[in-house]
Amino acid sequence: MPELPEVETVVRQLRTGDGVRGRAVVGQTITSVTIKWARHIATPAPRELKKRLPGQRVTAITRRGKYLVFHLTRDVLLIHLKMSGDLMMVNHHAAPDKHAHTIFHFKSGRSLRFTDTRKFGKVFLVKDAEEIVGHLGPEPLEKDFTAKRLGTMLREHRRALKPLLLDQTFIAGLGNIYTDEALHRAQLHPLRQSDTLQPAEVRALWKSIRQALMLGLRHNGASIDWVYRGGGFQNYFRVYDRANEPCLTCGTPIQRIVVGQRGTHFCPHCQRPSQRSKV
Ligand SMILES: [Zn+2]
Repeated sequence: MPELPEVETVVRQLRTGDGVRGRAVVGQTITSVTIKWARHIATPAPRELKKRLPGQRVTAITRRGKYLVFHLTRDVLLIHLKMSGDLMMVNHHAAPDKHAHTIFHFKSGRSLRFTDTRKFGKVFLVKDAEEIVGHLGPEPLEKDFTAKRLGTMLREHRRALKPLLLDQTFIAGLGNIYTDEALHRAQLHPLRQSDTLQPAEVRALWKSIRQALMLGLRHNGASIDWVYRGGGFQNYFRVYDRANEPCLTCGTPIQRIVVGQRGTHFCPHCQRPSQRSKV
């Protein structure tokens, strides 16, 4: 599933069109929408969405957590790529793609295709983005996400680190890859209880979350099991998807365990369960 760096990469590409004239989504005016998979449309009803969008111009594109946020003249359109979603600008006459389930057509003769092989993606059209993203936790790369704030948040929760970091209401944008990578960088066991961290460990976790995400961004995200273009972060994984391979720090084979139904990768030597941990 695309996480913060992958979604941010898509946002940046759509915002600028990769420098190709006419390919940027910002500034485009919607003329119509084709919906081939009605369950893509979370809200409003597909018929209402098709009626409300024409004539609206895209004024900006931002990201909140794993959501792409298209600011329109009158409404806000949000897209969640979920497992396999991707967004691609094409010409109207481009060869059809059977996985393009929702297509936004623009006055310029271009279209934005929402392709989604596994069909879990979602589209939301609302007046105020907060209706959809208001429940999300802080953005880990923003200035207001400080080590001190993370320390308070960790103490308020008494949960194992891995599921807590995956919880979008705790921190927005982290998924399986960046959580495993951050915990390895911070040398913290995935099952460590959040309220047992020492101040130095909180700081290490804060720094590691940001470093893992920034490295991901620098490589345009990771390309692994979803339809996605160009990302190279998969070549820099320390633990994710590396079960039985040697830890890059100490050589111990990386272990894979299942935590809350999610495959979790860690180094049993570098990320030892602390005595205070309930594991
Ligand atoms: Zn190790």
